[in-house]
Amino acid sequence: MKIALIAHDKKKTDLVQFVLAYKPIFKDHELFATGTTGLRIQEASGLSIHRFQSGPLGGDQEIGALIAKNQMDIVIFFRDPLTAQPHEPDITALIRLCDVYSIPLATNMGTAEILIRGLERGDLEWREVIHSKNN
Ligand code: PGA
Repeated sequence: MKIALIAHDKKKTDLVQFVLAYKPIFKDHELFATGTTGLRIQEASGLSIHRFQSGPLGGDQEIGALIAKNQMDIVIFFRDPLTAQPHEPDITALIRLCDVYSIPLATNMGTAEILIRGLERGDLEWREVIHSKNN
């Protein structure tokens, strides 16, 4: 599965810890991230991550483009709801596209845990059906 990882600055440490905690699951999947988030996770975990631009420089939109092609299977996006972001329109657009394509999206750790445990159990195998239909 293709998993996108994004965290706003005050949430980056949480996401790094989350990925470390579930590294045995994450290591079997294809990981994508916005620039700084990806670097932090890569350095901490040693996992290989395809890094896009930093969020404010277009990284959210790059991930959105994959969602629009129905090529992203899970989005884990630890938003900071207490800090204004210069790229708020991009964030809204990314979340909107997840809803357009019914892509499982977690915006906090509580939901992310459920998603990752569901992934491990095979609850997201319907995504493989979508991929096989698109090929
Ligand atoms: P960053 O981008 O990982 O490059 O910090 C995330 C964001 O702020 O959207």
